[in-house]
Amino acid sequence: MIPEDRHPIFEKTIKPKSSDETHEIGVFLGQALRAGDLVVLNGDLGAGKTTLTRGIGEGLNVRGPITSPTFVLARTHPSLNDGPNLVHVDAYRLSSADEFDDLDIDYETSAVVVEWGSGMVQESDSHLEINIVRARGDNIIDFESEEEPREMTLRGFGKRWSGGIEL
Ligand code: ADP
Ligand code: MG
Repeated sequence: MIPEDRHPIFEKTIKPKSSDETHEIGVFLGQALRAGDLVVLNGDLGAGKTTLTRGIGEGLNVRGPITSPTFVLARTHPSLNDGPNLVHVDAYRLSSADEFDDLDIDYETSAVVVEWGSGMVQESDSHLEINIVRARGDNIIDFESEEEPREMTLRGFGKRWSGGIEL
């Protein structure tokens, strides 16, 4: 039998029309995050995972700059006030949940955002999963710029997320 908490306790889909909107969603999310929270970002290269994470960093008020952590597996951005730090992980080259555990992240003091985090956490662990895909069916708003809509699905696993998130 599948344990109850393998099912999302909350689910929501939103459609940011531009990278600015994706960033703003991140800001709201960052304001809501607490130490111990784990956010898993899935989506192809260029989907907007790092753009969202930059917004999260702004919402949390941590030291930047937040970049794609290509050559570093995990980077800690210290809080600029007394809130949680942001640990930004690129799990692209990690191959198992065990390798992710080996990073020994300090959850006590940090909110953790993992790009390419699918498969790195147990579904039964409390976390917020965010899947970003290009909303291909929709009209592209402006062909000159590279701005295009995304479809972002948020799923909360575990009691922590039972209240959903105001965005
Ligand atoms: P990832 O980390 O998923 O590889 P990035 O955030 O680094 O993706 O890059 C996303 C790219 O897509 C940026 O160049 C951004 O300007 C562009 N973009 C266009 N439309 C959007 C949108 N609606 N949301 C997020 N990024 C967008
Ligand atoms: Mg990225």
